[in-house]
Amino acid sequence: MAEHKQKKPIAPRTEMPCQPAEQRRKNFSEVALGYTAEMAKKEAARCLQCKKPLCIAGCPVEVPIKEFIGHLTKGDVAAAHRSIASTNSLPAVCGRVCPQERQCESKCVLSAKGQPVCIGRLERFVADAMLKTPPASSGKGAKGNGAKVACIGSGPASLTCAGFCAAQGLQVDVFEALHEPGGVLIYGIPAFRLPKDIVAAEIDGLKRMGVTFRLNHVGGRTIQVADLRKEYGAVFIGVGAGLPIFLGVPGENLIGVCSANEYLTRVNLGRAYDFPKFDTPVLQGRNVTVYGAGNVAMDSARTALRMGAESVHIVYRRTRDEMPARKEEIEHAEEEGVQFSLLSAPLEFCGDENARLTSVKLQKMELGEPDASGRRKPVPIEGQTWTLPTDLAIVALGTRANPILLEATPDMRRNARGYIETDEHGMTSIDGVYAGGDIVTGSATVILAMGAGRKAGQAICARLANTGK
Ligand SMILES: Cc1cc2nc3c(=O)[nH]c(=O)nc-3n(C[C@H](O)[C@H](O)[C@H](O)COP(=O)(O)OP(=O)(O)OC[C@H]3O[C@@H](n4cnc5c(N)ncnc54)[C@H](O)[C@@H]3O)c2cc1C
Ligand code: SF4
Repeated sequence: MAEHKQKKPIAPRTEMPCQPAEQRRKNFSEVALGYTAEMAKKEAARCLQCKKPLCIAGCPVEVPIKEFIGHLTKGDVAAAHRSIASTNSLPAVCGRVCPQERQCESKCVLSAKGQPVCIGRLERFVADAMLKTPPASSGKGAKGNGAKVACIGSGPASLTCAGFCAAQGLQVDVFEALHEPGGVLIYGIPAFRLPKDIVAAEIDGLKRMGVTFRLNHVGGRTIQVADLRKEYGAVFIGVGAGLPIFLGVPGENLIGVCSANEYLTRVNLGRAYDFPKFDTPVLQGRNVTVYGAGNVAMDSARTALRMGAESVHIVYRRTRDEMPARKEEIEHAEEEGVQFSLLSAPLEFCGDENARLTSVKLQKMELGEPDASGRRKPVPIEGQTWTLPTDLAIVALGTRANPILLEATPDMRRNARGYIETDEHGMTSIDGVYAGGDIVTGSATVILAMGAGRKAGQAICARLANTGK
């Protein structure tokens, strides 16, 4: 319930300028261009500074939203940044990719009128403004007691845990399997949504705090949890859940069918869009089909357009209302020319004599009764099939836990779904070994991974405060 009587009509949300769709579908530059200082001030002035700000309850890391917006209305961007940074170590990332419409903005009192304060856009404005300002100090945290922490994986969960521990004066080493740190922020989410220099700048901040990054180290292969535990006071596991799930239909082995994970990693991390300057090859489809309707599917479809596809179809077995992707991403994809083949499920991939994909046979579906997830279950309409020509099929159905580290650490308990079990402090069944992010929850969000990294960081700091072990 609103606490303030609305005498004046609510001013509409301040729109964010974007690259025009016709232009952006051909480049990898950022789509949303960010607020100017005037736009930010205008949007901040829409905040009612509620006595009981409901917005905070919608934020998994409890950013003091009312406080930071209050500073912005006075034009004090540095103070606004201090407020945000008190609980969120990656604000330039969160301002871009958090599903605010389901979190803080859905709780804002103005959301009842359909016009919540644009909290995410303001967060992004503050973070970007501070990234342009050269750091005043080395960024080193408190003086510590020499205790050391190892983080395995370098996605948002580990980065947050590392940042929290380093700020408390602990020495943190991050071990990452790939040749660049950042996890999905680097290899998954495309640059047109999250520019790579933004992630690099946030990682540089951690380096200035003394965090070291040891790349090309695979937990469970080149390093083992037990060995790290002997050397470090605590170990945090944030290896994500990057093993792709496939459709399980005939023809999935044809040349031209790949997982979204592989496709996006080649394009984003391998810079395949700049081949042969960067020597990572990638399949380039003329008629691309993408299976699934989450953020990963939208990212794959929009990437395929930018890689030169003539047509891109999202194939989804439910309707637009059930699509799990952020509304903004669906709208951006549509504006750019991505087409939606809804209520359609793949039956079979078909190929030519060289085992190259040529088309997909689809089954027409309709919505039946709600299933366990509460969403209406898609059921096939008998006898109604159709064929769509395609030479690149990208499967974006979700992911599960990668077994490499888990199988090499058999004494660490896992749940029935194969993810690591932790207690309320994020500690696993092995003393001193913590875990968080997608490897505990299954595929989730950046901010939830960060929340888990922060919780484990707090527990690790409390544990190591006295003994260092
Ligand atoms: C394409 C895509 C788009 C997305 N879009 C959004 C979005 O818009 N908003 C949102 O909130 N969320 C989004 N997500 C989900 C979000 O990115 C994840 O929930 C989040 O990154 C999970 O963080 P994490 O730290 O647990 O793992 P990850 O980000 O997956 O990082 C894990 C890291 O561990 C490394 N690793 C794995 N195994 C090992 C090992 N054995 N040894 C060492 N290192 C290892 C990996 O290389 C990786 O760098 C998206 C995900 C994808 C794939
Ligand atoms: S962002 Fe919304 S809920 Fe939060 S203080 Fe401002 S008006 Fe109130």
